[in-house]
Amino acid sequence: MTDRYCVFGNPVAHSKSPAIHAAFARQTGQDLRYDAILAPLDGFAAAVAGFVAAGGRGANVTVPFKEEAFRLSTRRTARAELAGAVNTLSFDDGEVIGDNTDGAGLVRDLVDNLGYVPAGRRVLLLGAGGAARGVLGPLLETGPARLVVVNRTAARAHELASRFAEHFAARDTLAGSGYDALDGSAFDLVINATSASLGGDLPALPDGLFAAGSLAYDMMYGQGDTPFMAFARTQGAARVADGLGMLVEQAAEAFFVWRGVRPDGAALLAHLRHA
Ligand code: NDP
Repeated sequence: MTDRYCVFGNPVAHSKSPAIHAAFARQTGQDLRYDAILAPLDGFAAAVAGFVAAGGRGANVTVPFKEEAFRLSTRRTARAELAGAVNTLSFDDGEVIGDNTDGAGLVRDLVDNLGYVPAGRRVLLLGAGGAARGVLGPLLETGPARLVVVNRTAARAHELASRFAEHFAARDTLAGSGYDALDGSAFDLVINATSASLGGDLPALPDGLFAAGSLAYDMMYGQGDTPFMAFARTQGAARVADGLGMLVEQAAEAFFVWRGVRPDGAALLAHLRHA
C-alpha cells in the first residue's frame, strides 16, 4: 500500500508542498502520496483524526494550525517543545508525534545553499511569531556573536529572547527589543520572519542596518522582490535571498523524519528557480 502524507492549512490551495514531496519521492524512489487538505478553521483536530483513520502516516501543518498541532501532539521533539509550534506530524501506533523542521530548514538553506555561515556574525531576526520561534533555537546553535530579536510588539521580543537566553545559557548573545532601539546598529545577517511582506508592508527599519558584506533574507517567497528585499538592496546589503530555499529544506527535513532518507533539497531548489 502506498503511504499517505499531506499538508493541512487554511488556505492551502497555493501550497507548493505536494509538488515538493512528489519530487522528493521520485528522487529517492520512495512510494508515497502527498495531498493538500483544507481543514476548516474550527475543525483541525477532526481533519487530522480523519486522515489518521484513513491510514495517513504523517502530515505537515501550515498557517494557521501550527500552535493547535503543538497542543494535539501526544509527544514532541525537543525542538518543537522549544518552538511552541509544530509543522510536522508523524502518526505511529496511536501516538501523534510533533516536530518542527522550520529552523533546520532555514539553517540548511543559509549554510549549504547560500554558503553563509552565521557563526561569529551579528544576526538580526525581525518578528516574534511562530516562524521566529521555530528558527531561534537552530540559529543560536550556529554560534552567532550576537543575535537580536525585534518585534512590533516589543514585549513579545523581550519574552522570546529571555526564554531562549535562559534555555541556551546565552544571556550575553541574545537580546530582544522594539524597532526603535535599532538606530545606529549594523548587522551581518538580517532575517525577516514577520508576515509584513504578505501585506506588501515593510517593518519600521532604520537606515544603516546592513553591514558591509551582509545578507538580507526574507522568509517570504513569491514573484520578484518583497518590500524587505527591495529595501535591503537600496540600503546596500551585499546579498538578498527569499524563503523558497527554506521552504524546500524544511520539507526535506520532514521527509527525512518520516522516511529516514534525506532528499537533495539543493537540486530541487535549482529546478524550481529555473522553472
Ligand atoms: P505570525 O502571524 O505567527 O507572526 C507574524 C509576525 O509578523 C509577528 O511578529 C508580527 O508582529 C509581525 N508583523 C506582522 N505585520 C507586521 C508589520 N506590518 N510590521 C512589522 N511586523 C509585522 O506569522 P508566522 O511567524 O507564522 O509567519 C511569518 C512569515 O514567515 C510569513 O510570511 C510566512 O509565510 C513565513 N514563513 C516562511 C516559511 C518558509 O519555509 N519559507 C516557513 C514559515 C513561515 P506583532 O507580534 O507585533 O503582531
